Amino acid sequence: MKNKQYDAIVIGGGISGILSTLALSKEGKKVLVIEKNDIIGGNCRTYEIDGYHLDTGPHVITNLIDGPLVELIKKYFTVVPRFSSINTYYVRDNKKLQEFPLTLLQLACFNILPKKERLIMSAAMIDAVANSSLNKNVLQKSIYEYMKKYNPSEKTNRLIDALSYFLSGKSMKETPTWRMLGGSGYINENDQNKKGHLKKFIKFAKHNYSSQGYPLGGIQSITDCAINSIPKNNATFHLNEKVIKLITKNNTVTGVQTDKNIYHSNLVIYSGFMKNLSDLTDILDKKYKSKLSKLKQTKSLTLWLGLKKKLPETSYIGSEMFFNTDTPYWAVPVSNFDNHLSPKNKQLIGFTTVIEDKNIEKRIKELKNSIFKAIPTIENQIEFEHTQITIPEKAAVTIGVDFPSPKSPIKNLYLVGTDTDMRSMGITRASYSVIKALKFMKDDKII
Ligand SMILES: Cc1cc2nc3c(=O)[nH]c(=O)nc-3n(C[C@H](O)[C@H](O)[C@H](O)COP(=O)(O)OP(=O)(O)OC[C@H]3O[C@@H](n4cnc5c(N)ncnc54)[C@H](O)[C@@H]3O)c2cc1C
Repeated sequence: MKNKQYDAIVIGGGISGILSTLALSKEGKKVLVIEKNDIIGGNCRTYEIDGYHLDTGPHVITNLIDGPLVELIKKYFTVVPRFSSINTYYVRDNKKLQEFPLTLLQLACFNILPKKERLIMSAAMIDAVANSSLNKNVLQKSIYEYMKKYNPSEKTNRLIDALSYFLSGKSMKETPTWRMLGGSGYINENDQNKKGHLKKFIKFAKHNYSSQGYPLGGIQSITDCAINSIPKNNATFHLNEKVIKLITKNNTVTGVQTDKNIYHSNLVIYSGFMKNLSDLTDILDKKYKSKLSKLKQTKSLTLWLGLKKKLPETSYIGSEMFFNTDTPYWAVPVSNFDNHLSPKNKQLIGFTTVIEDKNIEKRIKELKNSIFKAIPTIENQIEFEHTQITIPEKAAVTIGVDFPSPKSPIKNLYLVGTDTDMRSMGITRASYSVIKALKFMKDDKII
């Protein structure tokens, strides 16, 4: 087969690859997308089984007022996803829901923890927010190390540990303190060092959580809208084809080799695991390879439950966390936001936990036990079950780990995805990385 030339080659058809493709195609580039699987979307997909529409993991999209996804949507989407607003995060304890405390006042009233513990948490939070301006090194410590001097109770530790898992993918012993503050919205990850700490206290006292939302039609509607916004004939998609090598000359990428063919381009965007980048080329230096090898991943187990009817206990618009167990979960009752996602009058809820061991059957059982402990009425209402094992983000934000920049050491090779930007999470993080990569491409005058 004849080797082909493209204006740009995008490796990987997940949301970061698709957003990059859309942006480049709108800049007039002819783009080739190469995806190793038989389907586009990566972790940003929705599929149907027995009338239930299942996302690849329960999703809530953050920063929908002025975040990076909105920036890309405004600039490049001609077909725009619609979001239903979901601003409430709940914590479930003793079969009751309480809003997650986002301000000092809410923390003072958060009676899931005893009064003494709430005071401890408030003191720790105030100190940490002040430290985010004054002494950044303190925030590089693990949350576990940071909290030690406050001597929190076992219950408080469980809550913090569960939160760490949901925000970074790792335990409180591995998660840096700044991640907890940024991920919960207590400090702004974009301007940690620019604003005075007085402003941060005001924010903490009031809290202005940027809008969260769920895309109507399922998470895949974001991918679909992006694909449908690509100008006709400006993108070609090759599925079931894996990039196995980058072709380079004088430290500059000139194309890719797949398991089927060779393609040429003087612009390549890689959106696979950065950990695997070293397998695609042997021109990266030792230091850079060592940095990539330190990236840590998290595996998650999602259990989707289809219920015979909508339960009052789970009829809220939001998501919930249950932490008072060895298998904490985060749950999103997606059919509450979009009733087309389940058969009529039924309910669909996704429950996710982090898994580290290999005994999946045992972990599914433990997750179910947690769910039944938290919401006992669910057990008799289940008519549908589906499990997913996924890697939510390509790298977890952990102590001492530094993500690679979207500008790679190889000329004309740019990197996008959730392991090239530490801000926020998931699709928001992937969007940040795409915006940053596009800026580098513009600065380098390649687009
Ligand atoms: C359980 C769960 C819950 C989540 N919750 C949220 C949430 O609430 N909010 C949120 O914003 N995000 C959430 N996410 C995360 C979000 O879905 C992902 O971060 C995002 O979809 C990642 O997109 P990506 O393009 O960076 O990576 P991916 O989706 O991993 O896409 C990378 C693509 O590249 C392809 N590829 C890799 N290597 C090659 C190669 N050599 N050749 C060809 N193709 C290749 C892969 O097959 C894949 O399709 C969640 C994810 C999960 C699993």
